[in-house]
Amino acid sequence: MKLRLASELTYDSIVDGPGLRMVIWTQGCIHNCYKCHNPQTHKLEGGIMVDTNYVIKEVKKLKLHKGITLSGGEPFLQPKSLSLIAKSAQLENLDVWCYTGFEFEYLINKENPLYMQNKNLLQYIDILVDGKFVYEKKDVTLKFRGSSNQRVIDVKRSLEVNQVILKEEYMEKSLHMAK
Ligand code: SF4
Repeated sequence: MKLRLASELTYDSIVDGPGLRMVIWTQGCIHNCYKCHNPQTHKLEGGIMVDTNYVIKEVKKLKLHKGITLSGGEPFLQPKSLSLIAKSAQLENLDVWCYTGFEFEYLINKENPLYMQNKNLLQYIDILVDGKFVYEKKDVTLKFRGSSNQRVIDVKRSLEVNQVILKEEYMEKSLHMAK
């Protein structure tokens, strides 16, 4: 299956979730957040096409990593390909974080035409950081999120009860910045 990436994989991120992480930057976003940091990822036809098998092979090579992060762009525009990759990461005992401009409630709404695909991807995600980047709510002291409206969500627990359960430890401000 094909996946549209915005750039090459990043193998050594320490800012897109806890620990050492590989980041998969998806191409294509429809949210148009004011002052987005990655405007080059918005074009739906841009970026580079890769095969999911290539990404899965790279995931399997990871040795010292805590997990992988799906970012972009908007990962939920490509849920089928990403679910294969996220599943393979969890089979390697890597945790999976995902950044989305959609809100959790929208993704799991049965009226959503991509409901089944979204649910399929969500089952392989451990932590979801949801919501658009809102410039007026930008806060550089937040851990792993850009603006205070965004939520760090424990996906497995949230899917069990069909409502958002926050991962409180990651909702705190960065210790370094809060001093
Ligand atoms: S969701 Fe992310 S990539 Fe898309 S416009 Fe907003 S900040 Fe930019």
